[in-house]
Amino acid sequence: MSNIEQTLSIIKPDAVERNLIENIKSIFVKNNLTIKEDKKIQITKEEAAEFYKVHQSKPFYDDLCTYLSSGPIVVMILEGQNAVAHNRKLMGATDPKNAEENTIRKLYGISIDKNSVHGSDSADNAKKEISFFFKN
Ligand code: UDP
Ligand code: MG
Repeated sequence: MSNIEQTLSIIKPDAVERNLIENIKSIFVKNNLTIKEDKKIQITKEEAAEFYKVHQSKPFYDDLCTYLSSGPIVVMILEGQNAVAHNRKLMGATDPKNAEENTIRKLYGISIDKNSVHGSDSADNAKKEISFFFKN
């Protein structure tokens, strides 16, 4: 059954800094996810805190918000068949050490915090995260 969805992807500061934008985008495109929108931005720590609000009770929350706001990021809307789950599959596990071969985090992730990409984890969150960065 056809289930064309959109999801939010972020190329995090560690990957932008290492000039991995085109390498990561090409993985999405090769795997049939279309990049509908993309922009390179830098967000404030307050914006990062709002974006990652679901993690506010976690011990890593403050560092995570500092990190996401520490340098330029690329935010993208990806579209395709089962885009939410497909993107998560292409990203690999949160900790690059546990990520499958050829996933983005296995190829490029440095550590559990500098893991190169973000991807929405559900269709509902994808909608919220897309509207956070792309206001119509
Ligand atoms: N994170 C971290 N330490 C941890 C767990 C997560 O720094 O122990 C960071 C990591 O950058 C991760 C983000 O917090 O990508 C959000 O965590 P989540 O569990 O949602 O992982 P994801 O959905 O990104 O795989
Ligand atoms: Mg998550």
